[in-house]
Amino acid sequence: MPVTEVLISVSEARERILAHVTTLPTENAPLLQALNRVLAKDVYAPFNVPPMANSAMDGYAVRWDDIRGTGPTTPVSLPVVGQVAAGHPSAVPLRSGQAMRIMTGAPVPDGCDTVVQFEETDEMERRARGASSADLTEIGILNPMTRGANVREAGGDVVSGTRIFTAGTLLRAAHVGVLASIGLATVPVIRRPLVAIMATGDELKEPGELLGPGQIYNSNSYAIAAQVLATGAEPLVLPIARDTIADLTTKLEAGLRADLFITSAGVSTGEYDLVKDVLGQQGTMDFWRVRMRPGKPLAFGLLPRRDGTIVPHLGLPGNPVSSMVAFDQFARPAIYKLAGRPAPTHPEVDAELDDTIGPGDGRRAFARAVLTKQLDGYHVRLTGPQGSNLLTSMAAANCLLVVPEEQDIQGIAAGGRVTVQVLEGFEDLLA
Ligand code: AMP
Ligand code: MG
Repeated sequence: MPVTEVLISVSEARERILAHVTTLPTENAPLLQALNRVLAKDVYAPFNVPPMANSAMDGYAVRWDDIRGTGPTTPVSLPVVGQVAAGHPSAVPLRSGQAMRIMTGAPVPDGCDTVVQFEETDEMERRARGASSADLTEIGILNPMTRGANVREAGGDVVSGTRIFTAGTLLRAAHVGVLASIGLATVPVIRRPLVAIMATGDELKEPGELLGPGQIYNSNSYAIAAQVLATGAEPLVLPIARDTIADLTTKLEAGLRADLFITSAGVSTGEYDLVKDVLGQQGTMDFWRVRMRPGKPLAFGLLPRRDGTIVPHLGLPGNPVSSMVAFDQFARPAIYKLAGRPAPTHPEVDAELDDTIGPGDGRRAFARAVLTKQLDGYHVRLTGPQGSNLLTSMAAANCLLVVPEEQDIQGIAAGGRVTVQVLEGFEDLLA
């Protein structure tokens, strides 16, 4: 890759990164491990769900013809010939003129086409008069019902032989439940991406340690790891690398088994910004200035593993907001592609701006903002000051307000129309 020092656009940077990322192979995962991963093959139902007709209510299994015309003043009474509970099918069919007590989920006996729930019978009345369950040898039906009431047909949820999910489906909690309902213990899914994360900087301490003079806590590794987790991928947080060629080179090693290698900081033009030098020595390295704010400096390269394969490396800027925004714009799409997750990665919506945005230098700006749905449509306001070090601005945001390059030069007056990207986890706002 030739070294590029010119300013490139956000979309060009993203395309260049994605060109070096390929979707991971398929594996059979235990059912629960399939959550938030992408189904690799179409899934067909091997049988009906539910497998047998069963009762939707606690009540009485009857033949509808026997209770036709029944009512509160002229109740039809039927002898109760047995009881069916969930998991315990009746050994005998229901004959004409009979009722069976039946519980929710119990298979309806042969011959039964309707279930009358307790509330529509005189059971309460009989109990009030002192009848125990054993005494309930007869039951009065107080309501005519409709034929088929409260009977859940076999295959009502899933019909045997039909395709229930197609390859490419992102598996959420309900999908996991459906797959369990057809008896699958393992599911063919795309392998979960492993993402190595290495913070760099002499000033950094880990949370839990004591801060010395001039030191700050490493927040980037944790924010990035949390962003990785939110995509469904697995983070591998490496120890902090100090700003020396030797330490960076050594600590890098442990992350090479990952599918994506993310470093934080050390990509600006300062004296100790060695990430680009070290990674350039170890592999091939592109150092970019992306026409965006925050997050102008960005490194991208390919690191070789011992076995000759490569791992794509993304060098995020050090400032905590820049790091998170650059992750969102570049790392997240790369992880989605690794994981085979469908687009769109950045759902957008138009909103009315309730603030004023000052003029900038013509970079695409990603302002931290709050999107609300109001009677006249979407409105958006800034979270407050927008410094790239102000991580609480990110915590207060549910969207990124995107100011295109051309508009950034002028700024935007209050009342103007703007485009916002809803942050991961806030997609419900678009519903
Ligand atoms: P650099 O890219 O190394 O010049 O870092 C830019 C800014 O980000 C500096 O103020 C750093 O102290 C800060 N920074 C770098 N790494 C981290 C980190 N892991 N957590 C929080 N802040 C960081
Ligand atoms: Mg630094």
